[in-house]
Amino acid sequence: MNIILLGPPGAGKGTQARILVEKHAMIQLSTGDMLREAKDSGTEMGLRVARVMAEGKLVTDDIVIGLIEEKLKGDSGGGFIFDGFPRTLAQADALDELLENCGQSLAAVVEMRVDDDALVSRITGRFTCGNCGEVYHAKTKQPKDDGICDQCGQSEMKHRADDNEESLRTRLMEYYKLTSPLIGYYYAKGKLKPVNGLGEIDAVAAEISEALV
Ligand code: AMP
Repeated sequence: MNIILLGPPGAGKGTQARILVEKHAMIQLSTGDMLREAKDSGTEMGLRVARVMAEGKLVTDDIVIGLIEEKLKGDSGGGFIFDGFPRTLAQADALDELLENCGQSLAAVVEMRVDDDALVSRITGRFTCGNCGEVYHAKTKQPKDDGICDQCGQSEMKHRADDNEESLRTRLMEYYKLTSPLIGYYYAKGKLKPVNGLGEIDAVAAEISEALV
């Protein structure tokens, strides 16, 4: 089963994707993570997109479509979770075509609905484990031992360069301008499953599981 997690920055897409990976052996394809890896490894493409990402703008469609195309050639496990992709109608069209070319289809698009006010606090308090990617929050989800990841035991906590109020404002603007039209697009295709993304992590996970049966 292949699904998309759709929602604004801070909606909890990454957190829920990780739960789905654990529960159903699905494969998380996060274009944000792929771009950050490219940036950290200093590849030419990584350097090119670094500034765009720090500002909170979208990188060009051809770059992210190319990244997804590569991943679709690999193991699909219990299905792909597209996290942060597609973000434009052109990316959505490209995804349809890529899936069709490899004999796959899209089961559902989970729209994670959250209130804009909640996003600022979610984003500015967020930090992640630099080793395994587990997501934490200064107020709502601290690791059990200060600075040590509950999942992998490493102490490499990171705060994303674009998780600040100014960049978030641009990221929200990009979301409403370029990504939110996908809600109508997938509704019209009969694929949209809205869930309330404001609850506790487990409650949201339960709502997603229900939406996917
Ligand atoms: P994310 O981790 O999904 O919040 O993405 C972080 C940043 O990476 C975004 O603000 C964009 O600059 C870039 N990015 C990630 N996915 C995409 C995408 N599908 N299309 C364009 N830019 C993207």
